Amino acid sequence: MNDIFALEERLQRKGYKLTRSRHLLLEGLLALDGWASAQQLFQYVTERDAGVNSSTIYRNLETLTGLGLLCRVEVAHSPQYFSLNKTQNHHHHLICKSCKGIWTLDHCPLRHLNAEELHRFSGLECKFDVYGYCEACQAKLTAPES
Ligand SMILES: [Zn+2]
Ligand SMILES: [Zn+2]
Ligand SMILES: [Zn+2]
Repeated sequence: MNDIFALEERLQRKGYKLTRSRHLLLEGLLALDGWASAQQLFQYVTERDAGVNSSTIYRNLETLTGLGLLCRVEVAHSPQYFSLNKTQNHHHHLICKSCKGIWTLDHCPLRHLNAEELHRFSGLECKFDVYGYCEACQAKLTAPES
């Protein structure tokens, strides 16, 4: 699923042109493997094509995120991070406040709410990240000082 051809085919099926900057951006996301900031991606793209400007990169990140090809998270005191969306399902992310690691939360808690609890809203869209401390950081945080 996450090879460049499959990603580009999805983009084209949605009616988007396969520009050189989009190609380089997807290539960069695959190469950086995992989460990357816009700045890191900008660097990857401009090392290969100096003619691409940062507003094009930001616009393409918005477009690809909107299409569901990318995941985006907000990490406190850090830039936004992007990664390829490895799952086609709606999901959220858990972010460790200590190590800034990012985990996928496969289930959407909204699924467990009934129509009353959701005030009979329709066309729901949910966008949120969940913050806490990962297991490894919990161990470090509770370790007694020597
Ligand atoms: Zn994700
Ligand atoms: Zn952590
Ligand atoms: Zn959700």
